Amino acid sequence: MKHWEHRARAREILSREVGYVQKPHGGRLRVALAFPNTYFVGMSSLGFQTVYRLFNDIEDVVCERVFLPPKQELRAQLASGAPLLTLESQTPVAGFDVLAFSVSFEWDYTNIVSMLRLAGLPPRAADRSPRHPLVVVGGAVTFVNPEPLAPFADVIAAGEGEVLIPDLMDALREGRERDGLLPRLAAKRGFYVPSLYSVHYEPDGRIAGFEPAAGSGAPPVVKKAAVKSAERLDPPATSIFTPDTEFGSRFLVEVVRGCANLCRFCWAGYNYLPVRAFPADRILELAAGARRHSSRAGLVSIALCDHPEIERLLKGLLEMGYSISPASLRLDDLTDPIVRLLRESGERSITIAPEAGSDRLRRVINKTVTDDEILRAAEVIFSNGIENLKLYYMIGLPTETEDDLTAIRDLTVQMREIMIRHARPRGHLGRIVGSVNPLIPKPGTAYQWLPMEDPAATERKARTLRRLLAGIDNVYFNIKSERHSYYQALLSLGDRRVADTIEAAERNGGQWRAAVAETGLDADFYIFRDRSADAVLPWDIIDGGMKASFFRSEFQKGLREEWTLPPKRQRENIRLMPVLD
Ligand code: SF4
Repeated sequence: MKHWEHRARAREILSREVGYVQKPHGGRLRVALAFPNTYFVGMSSLGFQTVYRLFNDIEDVVCERVFLPPKQELRAQLASGAPLLTLESQTPVAGFDVLAFSVSFEWDYTNIVSMLRLAGLPPRAADRSPRHPLVVVGGAVTFVNPEPLAPFADVIAAGEGEVLIPDLMDALREGRERDGLLPRLAAKRGFYVPSLYSVHYEPDGRIAGFEPAAGSGAPPVVKKAAVKSAERLDPPATSIFTPDTEFGSRFLVEVVRGCANLCRFCWAGYNYLPVRAFPADRILELAAGARRHSSRAGLVSIALCDHPEIERLLKGLLEMGYSISPASLRLDDLTDPIVRLLRESGERSITIAPEAGSDRLRRVINKTVTDDEILRAAEVIFSNGIENLKLYYMIGLPTETEDDLTAIRDLTVQMREIMIRHARPRGHLGRIVGSVNPLIPKPGTAYQWLPMEDPAATERKARTLRRLLAGIDNVYFNIKSERHSYYQALLSLGDRRVADTIEAAERNGGQWRAAVAETGLDADFYIFRDRSADAVLPWDIIDGGMKASFFRSEFQKGLREEWTLPPKRQRENIRLMPVLD
């Protein structure tokens, strides 16, 4: 594709958008904001849209978006050397002051490398010079484990954009020379500058320690930056509407951040604390403003109903004529009024996550709901006219036995009976769709030291479950393959030595097995090794706010099948948190 064709394509995309920002570049700090996937995927990311707004809210900053070209064009563009252009002004990314990546998924790591190459930048920070844009990596993955991306980033922004973006811009205003800029950023909360640290290793490959460069001012551990209270913050919400994206012209809005349930496997639960509700009036005001562009509201929150005014919010959205899609609903939050309001708004399907089939195993993982409560929730769902139910389960959980797998079938069958009972008078039977994923032990959780389960054992369990669930009418299960999870675990649990493999996978079109072989990486070392004796974990360089001693005691409590606190006192769990200091 020729240069003028790229520009014409960008203008065509903009012509279908509402709400994008165009500012003159002169005298402003210029930020190219990259989503490491296509426009279609990226424009449905609320995090990406929010960061765009936060940058552009600053008077002397101009922020323009850039995306990965569609697959069929990517190779041709890499081969031709055509420069990567921003969408708004079709300017080459290489000319910006900052290239900021908003990264939500491990699978997009190879796309970061592709976008750096498309932009004409050396992928490795060590090979770049001050004439290149400052490459900043932020987004959800930086909460978990940014270390595999360390060699590609000049700076990793760990935490929430509301705090990090103003600080980043302040540091840039003071000067863009790397020698001064990088230590200045490293001294601020939430900014991790990988080049200022040496990593020392034990002879057996474990990390011995991170050592900040002498005199650099870089802290021994980088504290995550987070907003203390959401009361005065504008709720993250869709600001650019386009029909050309996954969720179409849906108005996405974050209602409440965080979840205090403390499920022991859940990185989002542990890492978005404390729980902070956005002001209801402002959410409704934004929704009213967006109504002429959208008729569907997507409520993005991991614990939606923790908002103290959730019913008022749902009613308000309904009165505006929105149909409402919640992300996933926490089981203990499913009350009659809430489900009724969702049904009235046109919702026909609800997603819940029992995670395990038995009460015993749910105690192990601190999922504080019982079978009885799940069945009551199913009653509430189907009696209010919701037709379909989506379920999330996991396998490979600590202490799991065959009985726990049978319990998944039994629980699902009981929910199906409730569905049939309520569907019969309507004469139309809905469906139950289950999704089963192997546990990937995540950094920043009570399971961060666990090895992933042996693939043969997981495969056996998957086969058992397929057999148990076969032939049940109107029940469909998708049981994920081990291989897919295996490489995701590598990216999730890896350290900066995995970067070579990411580059190799980028070159060979995402063939991870070949990339691992080519780079001689011992992937099993990261995925199937018990880390409980490791003094330092790759993600320890970021302090997410939780203490290792808390995670260790949580793990032990799990083995004893104990809740963190008794059920129905989850809200008090918040007191256990080392809340932001
Ligand atoms: S209920 Fe558990 S799994 Fe769901 S968001 Fe909260 S902590 Fe995570």
